[in-house]
Amino acid sequence: MTAYERSRILLRFADLIDKHNDELAALETWDNGKPYAQAAHIEVPMVARLMRYYAGWADKIHGLVVPADGPHHVQVLHEPIGVAGQIIPWNFPLLMFAWKVGPALACGNTVVLKTAEQTPLSALYISKLLHEAGLPDGVVNVVSGFGPTAGAALASHMDVDKIAFTGSTDTGKIVLELAARSNLKSVTLELGGKSPFIIMDDADVDHAVELAHFALFFNQGQCCCAGSRTFVHERIYDEFVEKAKARALKRVVGDPFKNGVEQGPQIDDEQFNKILRYIRYGVESGANLVTGGDRLGDKGYYIQPTIFSDVKDNMKIAQEEIFGPVQSILKFNDLNEVIKRANASQYGLAAGVFTNNLNTANTLTRALRVGTVWVNCFDVFDAAIPFGGYKQSGIGREKGIDSLKNYLQIKAVVTPIKNAAWL
Ligand code: NAD
Repeated sequence: MTAYERSRILLRFADLIDKHNDELAALETWDNGKPYAQAAHIEVPMVARLMRYYAGWADKIHGLVVPADGPHHVQVLHEPIGVAGQIIPWNFPLLMFAWKVGPALACGNTVVLKTAEQTPLSALYISKLLHEAGLPDGVVNVVSGFGPTAGAALASHMDVDKIAFTGSTDTGKIVLELAARSNLKSVTLELGGKSPFIIMDDADVDHAVELAHFALFFNQGQCCCAGSRTFVHERIYDEFVEKAKARALKRVVGDPFKNGVEQGPQIDDEQFNKILRYIRYGVESGANLVTGGDRLGDKGYYIQPTIFSDVKDNMKIAQEEIFGPVQSILKFNDLNEVIKRANASQYGLAAGVFTNNLNTANTLTRALRVGTVWVNCFDVFDAAIPFGGYKQSGIGREKGIDSLKNYLQIKAVVTPIKNAAWL
């Protein structure tokens, strides 16, 4: 199929996503428990936007002609990599579908995508729209299945040329191993995080509290890049903790289909129990439970928005991914100190910086070993912004121009030039 035709299919697909926004958002909420308004007004529109972005790329992917030292004509071709295997998690099922399928199709590949066992519905539904947009049968294949069976089969399949995975760091390592042991397929990984959110003493405290609250509690705290270590300068620390508590107490938790609800249930009982376990670790290790700390009600996987203050770097809750509505607030008093502590993590996915001082912002953005730094903002996910991690947060980047490299093979074609006039 020509690149232009692929581009047109992606554009038609984006229009169909807009048209079916309500159904897609409802499926996402049914499956995942996230607030319907969040799915309908933020996530599904972002999926359509991503498809338009990749539609724009489809007919602009081309190779190069490079100079040769000898009498040779050298072309560098950018070819599709082939069959792309893709394994996605349950926290943003449709967005993860879009981050993976968009660039794969723009570059002319075929796809076998495995959804997370908790959230199979929206990817199945949206694939029907892809077909309606004109994509031929067999180009995008969605498999609903379990990780250790369907996921592992995909990662180790000899006919799969590339595997793209999003999920936990432990599973990412298994996928990398399976790829290595089978056919050495190319691998990109988008894994866990323990992102610092650094609030300097020149910050507007009310604004910082709101942003830090959003950075952690968005999507029930189930974000790989959640700002899960809130570092606050000692000069504003007490005021910040008080205000963060007031904000958490105001958080509206409940039926995700109800208007005004900010937080729905956690994804399943496994995650629900894991989060409650981390809350117990927090209490046992001596952190100060400021608010929350338990389930909410006695039905469903709802958890009270929870805050710990006086969290120390060596506590489990400051080191491991909780993936729930649990904010850990840590105190610091010096820029160099906070840089060291923020970087002292196996992860390096993202960070937030809150300051009015341009020099402080520049120092922090250069010093932090993470794939994204949000300055005076958080969770800005435009289609053109690359996303991915340093250290054990992953390999490669998704979205933006960098995501195209994941789905292209590069071939050099060298042809002698005979009787060139300049030789
Ligand atoms: P996971 O990493 O096990 O699952 C992610 C995907 O990998 C799913 O599709 C799953 O079926 C698949 N998978 C699982 N085992 C596999 C295997 N052996 N081979 C191939 N694929 C396999 O994550 P989880 O168990 O659903 O959640 C556990 C923790 O992972 C969470 O608490 C959270 O900390 C983290 N997590 C991170 C992200 C992220 O976006 N980075 C997303 C979901 C979960």
